[in-house]
Amino acid sequence: AIPLVVAISTAVSAKNGLLIRNRTAFENSRNITTIIFDKTGTLTQGSHAVAQVVVFGQTVDERELLRLAAGVEQHSEHYIAQGILKKAKAEGIVVPASESFHYLPGKGLEGTVENHDVKVVGPNYIKEFNVQVPQSQAEEGVETVVYVLVDGQVAGYITLRDQIRPESAGAIRVLKENGIKNLLLTGDNERVAKSVSDKLGMDGYLANVLPHQKQEKVKELQQQGEFVAMTGDGVNDAPALAQADVGIAVGSGTDVAAETADIILVNSNPQDIASLILFGKATYRKMI
Ligand code: ADP
Ligand code: MG
Repeated sequence: AIPLVVAISTAVSAKNGLLIRNRTAFENSRNITTIIFDKTGTLTQGSHAVAQVVVFGQTVDERELLRLAAGVEQHSEHYIAQGILKKAKAEGIVVPASESFHYLPGKGLEGTVENHDVKVVGPNYIKEFNVQVPQSQAEEGVETVVYVLVDGQVAGYITLRDQIRPESAGAIRVLKENGIKNLLLTGDNERVAKSVSDKLGMDGYLANVLPHQKQEKVKELQQQGEFVAMTGDGVNDAPALAQADVGIAVGSGTDVAAETADIILVNSNPQDIASLILFGKATYRKMI
């Protein structure tokens, strides 16, 4: 027989948009002291509309940069890829075939388009190239920037604008009211990370983080005695979701994240995490 409290908790959690995959982790959520949030797709929608296409030098023009980028991105399911392909389509660009496609985990991707090596990569890859984004761009502040490299040369960049989920601010507020620390971890650039963290009033952020560094951060906090929940949506978040005491996947995210997590946010609503915390505390207060 299913204990009454378990039956009730399952019914209530379903009503609150939570799919429980690991009951022990769910029961332990009342002990959470820190929640780490992935940014893209978790606190933000992943809407990623192309804002700017900018070229350096004369190798390619804007249209050609977009066309080559779309050529490799057609193999990716990332929000960035969807945004770039949508823009290419809107511009009437015929997306070229690409070969030898592969991911550069947490950094971007690479492929061969019409005999050219094309990479579309973020700040984690570009660091070693010492490329500066022009100042006017830097002031915009809140855009994801991906660089397009053609045969090893940085030919230009594309910026994409995402939206914070309307429910994210409320989720962070409830966590703070309950004394639970929150931290933003993202593979995206410093400016975007700071902007999202500031807008949501978060306790802190780390930008340019690679997948294994997300996991290491969870471990580090655990070693400091924190009971850590991790919330994420991507393949890149899977190691950290597995490491966390409570792994929470966003329903609209990747299968890999969902299969690794203990709990799934069915409606992709970060506010449901607040319900999880409050509900866990209330249920066990009644039991003890
Ligand atoms: P987050 O950690 O905020 O969820 P992701 O892990 O989804 O972000 O992506 C981290 C970074 O990796 C992106 O900001 C981007 O720079 C780069 N990246 C990932 N996928 C792609 C892609 N398909 N095209 C270009 N860059 C990508
Ligand atoms: Mg993500």
